[in-house]
Amino acid sequence: MGSNTSGPRSTSERFHDPDAGVIFQSVDGVKYRIHHKNLECSSNGFPPMELGSNEKEVASLSEESKILDLLFVFMYPEPQPDLEKLSFDVLAALAEAAERYQVFSAMAMCKVHMIANVHQHPLEALSYAARHNYEDVLDKAAVVAIERPIDEVVFALVNTPHAAFAWVRYYEAWRKALERALRRPSSCLSGCNTWSTSCISVLEKLGGRVGSLCEVDKIFSGLGAASCCNYQMKDWRSKVNNARNAIPKFSTFLVDDRAKKLAFGVMTI
Ligand SMILES: [Zn+2]
Repeated sequence: MGSNTSGPRSTSERFHDPDAGVIFQSVDGVKYRIHHKNLECSSNGFPPMELGSNEKEVASLSEESKILDLLFVFMYPEPQPDLEKLSFDVLAALAEAAERYQVFSAMAMCKVHMIANVHQHPLEALSYAARHNYEDVLDKAAVVAIERPIDEVVFALVNTPHAAFAWVRYYEAWRKALERALRRPSSCLSGCNTWSTSCISVLEKLGGRVGSLCEVDKIFSGLGAASCCNYQMKDWRSKVNNARNAIPKFSTFLVDDRAKKLAFGVMTI
C-alpha cells in the first residue's frame, strides 16, 4: 500500500489523503494527514490542533507510529482494531494516548481491555485507573494487587500521591481484617483433641499475608476436622468471611481523600 520502496516509512499508508488538512507526526517521524471534521467529532484533546490546522504545518506528537496507527483508526467510521491481539505494553500506551487526546471511542475500548488485564497486570491497571479516575477499574485491580507487597503498589502509584496514600489506608484495613480473622474460637465445644490440629492448619494458611483473606473457601476446606468441631469451625469461617466482606472498596478511600482535599486544601506528601 505504501509508496516507499525501502527504509522506514515517512508517511502513513492509511492516513495520507491530501485533502486532510491536519498533519501530525509521530515521534519516530511518520506523518499522518487527518480530516479536521474527524478530529472535531471524535476527540477533544489534541492541543497542537491549531498549529496543525495551518496547511503545511506539522504538529509533533510524543507517541510512536505503532500507537498512532491504532489511535487514528478510532476517529474514522471503519472497523476498529482488535485490541485483544495487542501486547499489554502497546495496549497501555494506546490507552494513555487515547486519554491524553480524549479520543472517546478508543478510551472506552481501552478501558474494557485494561479491565480484562487486571489479573496479569494489576499494578499497571491500578496506576492507569488512578490517573484517569476509573473507579470500577480501581476496585477490580485493587483486590488483585492486595496480594503484592505494599511498597510495590505504593511505588506503582507514585504519580498519583493521593492514590498511594489511599493504598496505605486500604492495606491497613486488610491488615486489621486479617487480625480479626486470626482470632480463633478457643476450643471445640466437646473439648476434643483434633481441634488444635485443624486450627493450626487454618492459622498456617491464613498466615501473615492479607491476600489469604481472598481464599477463605480454600483455607477452610479439606481440614478433616472431627464432627464435634464442625460448629465452631463453621462459626470461625463465617467470622473470617465477615471480616473480609467488611473491607471497604479501594475507591471509597480515594473518595474520602478527595473530600479531605476539598476541605483542607491541596494535600501534599
Ligand atoms: Zn471437636
